[in-house]
Amino acid sequence: MSGYRVTLIPGDGIGPEVAAATKDVLDASGVTIQWDVREAGMTALDSQGELLPAATLDSIRENGIGLKGPMTTPVGTGFRSVNVGLRHALSLYANLRPGKTMAGVQSTFQDIDLVIVRENMEDLYAGVEFDTGTDEARQVIAELNRLSSKQIALDAAISIKMITPEGSRRIVKYAFDYAVANGRKKVTAVHKANIMKFSDGLFLRIAQEVAADYPEIEFNDRIVDNMCMQLMQKPQDYDVLVMPNLYGDIVSDLVAGMVGGLGVAPSGNIGLDAAVFEPIHGSAPSHAGKNEANPTAMILSGALMLRHLGEREAAERIERAVAAVIRAGERVTYDLRPDRDPSKAASTTEMGQAIIARL
Ligand code: NAD
Repeated sequence: MSGYRVTLIPGDGIGPEVAAATKDVLDASGVTIQWDVREAGMTALDSQGELLPAATLDSIRENGIGLKGPMTTPVGTGFRSVNVGLRHALSLYANLRPGKTMAGVQSTFQDIDLVIVRENMEDLYAGVEFDTGTDEARQVIAELNRLSSKQIALDAAISIKMITPEGSRRIVKYAFDYAVANGRKKVTAVHKANIMKFSDGLFLRIAQEVAADYPEIEFNDRIVDNMCMQLMQKPQDYDVLVMPNLYGDIVSDLVAGMVGGLGVAPSGNIGLDAAVFEPIHGSAPSHAGKNEANPTAMILSGALMLRHLGEREAAERIERAVAAVIRAGERVTYDLRPDRDPSKAASTTEMGQAIIARL
């Protein structure tokens, strides 16, 4: 059988329900996919005794592509989030977060069509930290005070902001390559290089260098605080935005809020050897097992995956079908109804079937 082999991780909470609807939509899109269903998160912990089994990671490595539902983060077990573990284990350095308004989704903004490309591995999130009052923190601070004209209080807590030339180059290059492959016109680098002259200064300098290799794509840069204000005032002036980890974390949620929130926001985590696509929402435990959660974010994550695989036509057909069902407003889940009345709403499965009918 030709086609793609994709690792499917349904996750837990509402994950298995939105994953089932998504699988049905992708199967109906005309693209042939063999699903390699694997566990991670709480389901894997219960059945295999570990959150991120090696067999699941191997499956993604082998297939090069994964689609995953949300997972509950276990509280108080000392585990880092499975999602962070997955990104690091597979070096998924680019976080792709499109934000597009759709008629029928309540939001303050109209005609938004932005793509955020967030660096996923470096910056303040690299995990190099020293807690207040520890010997290690005191040693680090003493050395920094020796080397710098600025003095840090000895009881400070320290988190290191780490930006490398390689990390900056590959994320900016990814943003430009995405722009070329998806018919986008402009890339904006977002930074705070006026204050953090070395770390963000390096990111900006590399972005300018990479931009020179893509003369067909317009390039500019914005300081992150100004970027936030401009997104509120004239979002239509922007297209693809690329930025280091922390700004990306914040700006991508800002944009998700601008286009209607969690239920409709897809994402992808992309590395050199593998890519994993997922909705940005969590496992929504209060809706689990009721067949009432909104499958849109995971279905659009599936469409994003198809774009990544080069199946742009099928991806666009799915995106148009989702938009049409939401615009019609009849066979949508409760959260997309102005009255939020579950008794009048479509189930997760019914909304998936309505999307298939429009493909
Ligand atoms: P959440 O996204 O699960 O829920 C936030 C709110 O949005 C809730 O009111 C929920 O009911 C609603 N919601 C979310 N997705 C929806 C959907 N598809 N349809 C309808 N309503 C939806 O966030 P939370 O409550 O903070 O987190 C719950 C669990 O999920 C936590 O354990 C958290 O760590 C985890 N989480 C996982 C991921 C992931 O796997 N990528 C992301 C975020 C949170």
